[in-house]
Amino acid sequence: MTSVLQTLSCADNYDPNSLHVDRARELILDLLSPVTGHERVFVRQALDRVLAEDVISPIDVPSHDNSAMDGWAVRFDDLATSGETRLNNIGTAFAGRAFDGKVGAGETVRIMTGAILPQAVDCVVIQEVVRVEGDAVIIPPGQRREQNTRRAGEDLQAGRPAIPAGRKLRPAEIGIIASLGIGEVSVRRRVRVALFSTGDELCSIGAPLSEGAVYDSNRYTLWGMLTRLGCDVIDMGVVRDDPAALEAAFREAAACADAIITSGGVSVGEADFIKQLMTQLGEVAFWKIAMKPGRPMAFGRIQPDGADRPGAWLFGLPGNPVAVMVTFYQFVRPAILKLAGLDPVPSFQAFPARCVEAMKKGRGRTEFQRGILFRENGEWCVRPTGAQGSGVLRSMADADCFIVLEHERGTVDAGDTVNVQLMNGLV
Ligand code: AMP
Ligand code: MG
Repeated sequence: MTSVLQTLSCADNYDPNSLHVDRARELILDLLSPVTGHERVFVRQALDRVLAEDVISPIDVPSHDNSAMDGWAVRFDDLATSGETRLNNIGTAFAGRAFDGKVGAGETVRIMTGAILPQAVDCVVIQEVVRVEGDAVIIPPGQRREQNTRRAGEDLQAGRPAIPAGRKLRPAEIGIIASLGIGEVSVRRRVRVALFSTGDELCSIGAPLSEGAVYDSNRYTLWGMLTRLGCDVIDMGVVRDDPAALEAAFREAAACADAIITSGGVSVGEADFIKQLMTQLGEVAFWKIAMKPGRPMAFGRIQPDGADRPGAWLFGLPGNPVAVMVTFYQFVRPAILKLAGLDPVPSFQAFPARCVEAMKKGRGRTEFQRGILFRENGEWCVRPTGAQGSGVLRSMADADCFIVLEHERGTVDAGDTVNVQLMNGLV
């Protein structure tokens, strides 16, 4: 396995003490590759999983030329070039019950949506424009050959990939699989992620809060975000700021997980032994990312049994609750999607909105303010959620988007256009 630290230090634009958000994400994604291991699951169980092998269509869809509308099946060449055409009604074609006769010159059959087109028919005229007088069917002028017909294989062709490997299976893909008559598909195994919180001030829910203590919320937000991403989550609880306990936790996590996420212990004021331990148990870089919130972050591999053992990727997130969520969405989420086998890894989708409040912003770092979107005069507008401190988790709960203030951007005036990322698209 190539050395993580060596790879990083040889990369262009790599300054661990002031790393651009986009560059940090690229460096992480370049180092990771998808987990190996597939499982076969029934089509309903495949929802939200990542397809491991192309689904090859065993049939043409649709399997026959058929009608797209309820109407009258006609031979286009029978129709007069101007004026009405009078045809003779000789029967009906239903979906699932074909008309088994032949449509000869001057004849027509009533046809339902999905019914197989009778031989020689190449046009369907919708019932609403047709006049029926006994057995006579009067077709108005202005029809086109092939109109309201669906050709065999126009959706999917036999022998060709219907869904490519690496696609996340949404309801549309689940429907396509079913439309091919396939009952099982091969999906990537879920990514296994171990997580624990560090900090002597942390208190678990259920216990009374002692002076100076805070309840451990990060493990719960992380659990929620990872679960939404379809990971198998291994929650290892709170680990005391104690070298032996931390070492045991890292060893256990590295033995069972593809990735380890910790929160707390990577900021400047922290007892250095967590960082020392991470360094000792693997190859870990300590980054100061040019962003707010969430400046410090550790990234690398924990391989307590040496570089040729599998080990696990490490994301050492800061302790502040908002910083945890922001760094998770910006770095861990894309990393998990890559490990999960998504191909391509989706990039962030942002769209412009008018910011109705001024916001202070220094150039040279990317800021993720929490915002609320609303419509005004036919335009999308956004306002910040209020207090934006990195400990104010409520700013996340009240928000439906991040207001992304790009690296080079200065202060925002009320009325300026800003880019927003929808939280709905992230979770
Ligand atoms: P740290 O990065 O460890 O210096 O922590 C920064 C701030 O985040 C401190 O105020 C911590 O008390 C708080 N914090 C750290 N871990 C957690 C956690 N798991 N849940 C809630 N707050 C935390
Ligand atoms: Mg701490």
